[in-house]
Amino acid sequence: MAAAILEIIPWQQWGFFTEPKPCVIAGPCSAETEEQIMQTAQELKEIGINVFRAGIWKPRTHPGSFEGVGSPGLKWLRRAQKEFGLKVCTEVASEKHVYECLKYGVDMVWIGARTSANPFLMQEIADALRDTDIPVLVKNPVNPDLDLWIGALERLNGAGIRKLGVIHRGFSTSEKILYRNDPSWKMAIELRSRYPELAFFADPSHMAGDRKYLHELSQQALDLGLDGLMVESHCDPSCAWSDAKQQLTPAELITMLKSVTVRDKDAQSADYREHINHLRAQIDIIDENILYMLASRMRISAEIGKAKKENNVAILQTSRWESLLEKVIAKGGKSGLSKGFVTDVYNAIHEESVRTQNEILAGNA
Ligand code: PEP
Ligand code: MN
Repeated sequence: MAAAILEIIPWQQWGFFTEPKPCVIAGPCSAETEEQIMQTAQELKEIGINVFRAGIWKPRTHPGSFEGVGSPGLKWLRRAQKEFGLKVCTEVASEKHVYECLKYGVDMVWIGARTSANPFLMQEIADALRDTDIPVLVKNPVNPDLDLWIGALERLNGAGIRKLGVIHRGFSTSEKILYRNDPSWKMAIELRSRYPELAFFADPSHMAGDRKYLHELSQQALDLGLDGLMVESHCDPSCAWSDAKQQLTPAELITMLKSVTVRDKDAQSADYREHINHLRAQIDIIDENILYMLASRMRISAEIGKAKKENNVAILQTSRWESLLEKVIAKGGKSGLSKGFVTDVYNAIHEESVRTQNEILAGNA
């Protein structure tokens, strides 16, 4: 399927975030009480945060957990918005949530990871937002499915939402990993390269699950050149009603933000330009060589296919493939190439060889 085209108004035109980057959205996981909202919002405003988040409806795994204060919390957000001049945002997961947010003048909404995985809900939310002008940020679906993520964006865009962005919060995994969710940045990189104009946030809080990893994950996001961060911050994290382990106080948040390095998109210095151009020219030559070598390899593979056909031999000789892979992994390792990388590259080559030989045996080539 051809890549979907999204019509996007860049975040620089939303009037929410000012350069320099990163754009920061901060606030508690959940709105709990009016005092907690006002206290946190004031402390965040004092450290220079302009966009405030708080969950009003919380998607929780087990019933009986705190599921958010619901609509009354929207009045507290409106108070924080008016008293501190903040833009406020919250998560919506149904059309009812959208209508409530519009009624109370919420400035921006985000779609949570459990909702972006559900096309029915995405369509319902998109329809409820039709003809409004508020920005919408879409978190990645819980499972690593790029098309599902893009599909959610298409539904919103189809309803006329052009102030669109995404939040990468990592993927659920059954594997035991350091973090709460698997960062799997490669999907973020793929989405970023397909839609460079899309406002791109990382949510290191839900990725990490623990405040001790926030710095490293935020830095990884900035190293990739993402536009901003959504970070959970609470005036008294240890007493938070949800996600207590991963929240920072506003004071800790500003310390963290000051300690990360923001990368520039590009640099204008003549030395840098010359150096990069020189390296890129070398890469271009190597790429040509790689393509030439791959084509030669495939031609030989086709010859082998013909020989197999003439002698009525099956395509797959598992032991040959296994020993080849073992050999290239060992050789690659000596040149500093990781096992995973060599395996991926050779699996792709092998797949194409088998496909070519299949065609020959079937008499199509
Ligand atoms: C949240 O941001 O509060 C939240 C519930 O996040 P996620 O949808 O990423 O789990
Ligand atoms: Mn949370």
